[in-house]
Amino acid sequence: MPLLPGLADWREAPRVRVANDRPIAGDARYVLCWLQQALRATDNPVIDAAIRLGNALGLPVLVYHGVREDYPYASDRLHHFILGASRDLAAGCAARGIACVRHVDRAGHREKGLVYRLAADAAALVMEDQPTFVARWQGERVAARVGIAVHAVNAACLVPPAVLGDGIGGRSGFLRRYEPERAAWLEAVDEPAEVAPYAGALPFVPDVLDDDLDMLIAGLDIDHSLPASAAFPAGRAAAGDRLQRLIGKVLPGYAVTRNDATRREGASGLSPYLHFGVLGPREVMRAVDAAAAGAKHKTKFADELLGWREWFHYQARGLAAPECYDRVAGWARATLAEHEGDPRPEIETLAAMLRGETRDETWNACQRQFLRFGWMHNNLRMYWAKRIIAMTPDPATAWATACYLNDRLSLDGRDPSTYGNIAAMFGGAPGDTERPIYGRVATRGDGSTRRRDGGDAWIAAAAARPVPPVSVPTELPADRYLRREYT
Ligand SMILES: Cc1cc2nc3c(=O)[nH]c(=O)nc-3n(C[C@H](O)[C@H](O)[C@H](O)COP(=O)(O)OP(=O)(O)OC[C@H]3O[C@@H](n4cnc5c(N)ncnc54)[C@H](O)[C@@H]3O)c2cc1C
Repeated sequence: MPLLPGLADWREAPRVRVANDRPIAGDARYVLCWLQQALRATDNPVIDAAIRLGNALGLPVLVYHGVREDYPYASDRLHHFILGASRDLAAGCAARGIACVRHVDRAGHREKGLVYRLAADAAALVMEDQPTFVARWQGERVAARVGIAVHAVNAACLVPPAVLGDGIGGRSGFLRRYEPERAAWLEAVDEPAEVAPYAGALPFVPDVLDDDLDMLIAGLDIDHSLPASAAFPAGRAAAGDRLQRLIGKVLPGYAVTRNDATRREGASGLSPYLHFGVLGPREVMRAVDAAAAGAKHKTKFADELLGWREWFHYQARGLAAPECYDRVAGWARATLAEHEGDPRPEIETLAAMLRGETRDETWNACQRQFLRFGWMHNNLRMYWAKRIIAMTPDPATAWATACYLNDRLSLDGRDPSTYGNIAAMFGGAPGDTERPIYGRVATRGDGSTRRRDGGDAWIAAAAARPVPPVSVPTELPADRYLRREYT
């Protein structure tokens, strides 16, 4: 199927995927732009694609963002971050002269199937192309069901995965194809302007909910045992502060400091903002390129932000179920299965793990970062994930536990990097030594943190950090839970 009008000659056209074979509807009021995770008003290719299409059809664009109470892991923490981003998305759209309507589903304000109802008045739907979690399954479902043309646009990556071609099996092959593309995608884009903002009829009364998010969230039927993160405030201004902090304080030493979990300013803390699209990788990378920091630090940062993050996006796009244990390398699943019956003296309950109250002080220090901040340092995440294999009854439960804790607690969870990194910790390169429980899967100690100056004291303090009394489920969610309808 060819691209819709206004898109074929666009510089960003490789970001666009034709998501169904339906026609443009006649007699429509607008082009619908449905955002789930790319919550920014500028440098947002989903919005830009919708405007280009709208201009070609002579129609305005209607941006829609909705949040429900029943999506997996809905909590004060996630709602606060999402609704703060949504508030700034709406303000940014208003500044660009684009109509943006939002809805928070709640008692007394129930609206079933809003995307479908909004699509009924649309010529076409432009949505995000996300490779994991609810955003992926919702997008696929909506594209299959609506009667209008749907395009999915990649807004999460600097280089859209489609330009790299299919079938790249490893990161070195990925980088060989990726590197020559990178410079062109770093160039700033000209944002198209809208003819006139949509001001016509709507099938519901949109919410204006920005005055007291705390009060709104307190009244919702979501997980209130997990509070908003004070360390990661929601919205564009907070993301901008993080970016400034990266340029001024983190980047000048990044290649040296990034592995040191004990340093406050060793890493950027940008991942929550990138996950929810409050910042895009182009904006971050352009700021990094323009910074005065040394080349080795910039190169290291680019390797993480682009070389690793975008590799996991690429991988997830090629997988039927990126969130499932089956994605772990076959040799690793086989060696873990051979050792499934091994004695497991370090097994822990889900409650002890969830609350960071296990017998492993370092693991508790890691887990309490997730609990308290909604974020964990990269170096700690590696130890944390590896140890879960020994703390749970079998490898599949270990996978489900790692994904559950990461997805529920971490602001950046539910991401291609979540499942890609956990898969790397459960697989990666096979080791030479055969060990109980792990087989040939490499283990990891806590020396990289303990050996630092003051490392033992830092771990002890982090493991004793006060954390919220988070509720404990009776069982881990099944994979299918993620595939339910959430519109
Ligand atoms: C077991 C495990 C689970 C993880 N789960 C997640 C997750 O749910 N969401 C998530 O975004 N990242 C995840 N990561 C990757 C990484 O730990 C985080 O991206 C990073 O710690 C975020 O902190 P930062 O923004 O300060 O990183 P920085 O060091 O400042 O890096 C800058 C950016 O580069 C990217 N990046 C850095 N390291 C990695 C990496 N290993 N893989 C992919 N991208 C990377 C992130 O977008 C990050 O924001 C996980 C890693 C492991 C080992």
